[in-house]
Amino acid sequence: MTQASPVSLERALVEIDRACGGDAVVRDPDILESVAGDESETPRRRPEALVRAASTRDVAAVLKAASKHGVPVTPRGAGTGRVGGAVPVHGGIVLSTESMRSIVEVHDEELVAVVEPGVATGALHAAVEDRQLFYPPDPNSLATCTMGGNLACNAGGPRAFKYGVTGDFVLSLEVVTAEGSVLAVGKPTVKGVTGYDLASLIVGSEGTLGVITRAKMRLLPKPESVRTLLVFVADDASVGRGITGLLRRGIVPRCVELVDSIALDLIRRDAGLAIPAGAKGMLLVELDGPELLVDREVERTGNAFGDEGALEILTADRGSERERLWSARRELSRTLRTRARFKLSEDVVVPRTRIFDLLRTCRELSERHGVVMPTYGHAGDGNLHVNFLWDHERQRPDVELAIHGLFEATIALGGTLSGEHGIGVLKAPFLPMEQSPELIALQRKMKSLFDPRGILNPGKVFEAGTRPHGNC
Ligand SMILES: Cc1cc2nc3c(=O)[nH]c(=O)nc-3n(C[C@H](O)[C@H](O)[C@H](O)COP(=O)(O)OP(=O)(O)OC[C@H]3O[C@@H](n4cnc5c(N)ncnc54)[C@H](O)[C@@H]3O)c2cc1C
Repeated sequence: MTQASPVSLERALVEIDRACGGDAVVRDPDILESVAGDESETPRRRPEALVRAASTRDVAAVLKAASKHGVPVTPRGAGTGRVGGAVPVHGGIVLSTESMRSIVEVHDEELVAVVEPGVATGALHAAVEDRQLFYPPDPNSLATCTMGGNLACNAGGPRAFKYGVTGDFVLSLEVVTAEGSVLAVGKPTVKGVTGYDLASLIVGSEGTLGVITRAKMRLLPKPESVRTLLVFVADDASVGRGITGLLRRGIVPRCVELVDSIALDLIRRDAGLAIPAGAKGMLLVELDGPELLVDREVERTGNAFGDEGALEILTADRGSERERLWSARRELSRTLRTRARFKLSEDVVVPRTRIFDLLRTCRELSERHGVVMPTYGHAGDGNLHVNFLWDHERQRPDVELAIHGLFEATIALGGTLSGEHGIGVLKAPFLPMEQSPELIALQRKMKSLFDPRGILNPGKVFEAGTRPHGNC
């Protein structure tokens, strides 16, 4: 797919304006500039138009007109993505579902919630927790990111260790195809095996197969109590040993988050925490469940890390104390961004027993290529955010070599290139490192079945150009 001709674009916009009415179609350059990028280093590209959909009907009208006239459409939620998925690299229309933010239904007995795609993940949390229910997926961007973006990227978060990721909570989706048909995919009930599981195909397809306009999500009862432990360790090896020690004892925390020694040094002065001098790593461990059980599990968790030589263990059970421990972790990405002129972040995954090998690889790459590489993330899942910080343009080739080395090592350790951010623009050049030509060809055929004219989110996942050089 290339850019649309100006005539095709104007014809499509006239039809969209007629169908959606009001002020759905936006051409103001300042507003278009605000949807030109996301939270990644993908170079910004201003679209020719933004359409703010208010309903499934609007979404269908946009896609029908865009397909007819061959105009690229890039779906967009809150634009917090980390791989350029919402960046309109071929121009055309950005289709925002952010205004579709109704929580249509929360059913206490069925344990389900029906949401529109623009609902912020944190808003869903608050709405269901008020009713003693629980929606576990918790990307660290939850205050702003939307359910549509979470579904399109199959977002994870710290609690994935115990509960799984967004896709594990999907029952059914309403999806608009590239040609404007409205489909119901998935199952209306908790169980259901009728036909192919197309909901699973749409989840994680990064807006390339259809636009999600509604989702029926599974809920759980809200856990009675939650405790957070902060564990400081003296070396990388203690991280892996501590986690496997927990699992050997049958303890399954809801999160096990790591901040490595380099990240810890960079945030030491404003973490709002007293970090022991000899600490070479910090683990944030959270347990939930019935009050009595959690008390016992906190003690056993403390013992497990104590046996592995933890330097210090802090616990918190009140909301405000837990929030203080979490705030440093949630702000880590933004804090690191202030520590150097350039920052890049990768979200590789290895089997959790290979975490130590991955950390060792990061140290070797950092030394070999002279790049600062703070690492943190969802250690319990083996999913680490490896960051690259540098100050001078001339260092960029070294950074590229370090990234290449990281990907090679990840695959060799039995891992995968992305645990939650997706492929988007930035990782597309590297897809063939992990997937065979046959598998990529099959996925391309599936894409063309869903989107024969290639209008939906072109330039993502498979279209491997060279990696863009920007800054985040
Ligand atoms: C500080 C920070 C912390 C983060 N932490 C995490 C984390 O812990 N876990 C995690 O998984 N991610 C994390 N992310 C990444 C990001 O927040 C997630 O990928 C999130 O799911 C994106 O949601 P969004 O609404 O911002 O989507 P956008 O960035 O707008 O879009 C992301 C992708 O989804 C597609 N899309 C959006 N809406 C729809 C729709 N209705 N239908 C079809 N496709 C659609 C877009 O085309 C694009 O490909 C973090 C990002 C930041 C900045």
